Amino acid sequence: MILGSHVNFGTEQLLGATKQALSYGANTFMFYTGAPQNTIRKSLDESLTKEAQELMQNNGIDINNVICHAPYIINLANKTKAEAWNFSISFLKQEIKRVEALGVRYIVVHPGNFLQMEVRDALDAIAEALNYILSPSDSVMILLETMAGKGTECGRNMAEVKYILDHVTLKDKVGVCLDTCHLNDSGVDIADFDNYLNDFDKLIGIAKIKCIHLNDSKNPCGSHKDRHENIGLGTIGFANLLHVLDHEKLKDVPKILETPYVGEYAPYKYEIAMLKSKEFNPHLLEDIQSNK
Ligand SMILES: [Zn+2]
Repeated sequence: MILGSHVNFGTEQLLGATKQALSYGANTFMFYTGAPQNTIRKSLDESLTKEAQELMQNNGIDINNVICHAPYIINLANKTKAEAWNFSISFLKQEIKRVEALGVRYIVVHPGNFLQMEVRDALDAIAEALNYILSPSDSVMILLETMAGKGTECGRNMAEVKYILDHVTLKDKVGVCLDTCHLNDSGVDIADFDNYLNDFDKLIGIAKIKCIHLNDSKNPCGSHKDRHENIGLGTIGFANLLHVLDHEKLKDVPKILETPYVGEYAPYKYEIAMLKSKEFNPHLLEDIQSNK
């Protein structure tokens, strides 16, 4: 299994992220190249990048499975505010260059918010933005994330994701990231994940799925909330999440935990151990809090 979590890209940049992932027992990870809620970015330190790549190689992390996440304030949909739309485009372009310099292959992007726009116009704007951003020489693939449908989020169902993909010119530069919490909250029953995957395969193609955010949810199916819960403690449940993790058709797809901290403690080491053991740990929260 290819399993990791969100980690921090701190002062040691990719090296710090790699060290953190290894301390969690992970063989992949996901990072933001700066704060997720802003676009302030420090320049990359080449020697740290090189050291990180060596550390990965020596510890069984394939950099091809490592994921970057774009800041969520980027909105490729809102073309009515030209300045903000253009900023989102140029920022994402820059971010792709940074990801390329790190040697990482994938960047996850939230499609955007339609706000006061017609949904169709917003989806067209997203595709148009992607067509500005992508170039044939890019080594990085943009992964559109499936969203919960909170507020005016685009990408809240398969049809919207397909619409965007259909209108992108460089189709091999765009893939999809499924988020189990978002799917649940958008109205997909993860207990019936095989059915969803069959539909996805017919409409879009399973090969487009390049990353899975493996999260439990605090809210019931169809709630359109997007609040992540620790593995096995939410409405999706351990068995259903384990089924996604172990799915034969998705075995080469990296799975990333974005579950909440428990107090000040990151839950990932404990959740990864639990998922690897394939047995629910009823003491998960106590274990995380005692930070054993
Ligand atoms: Zn996301």
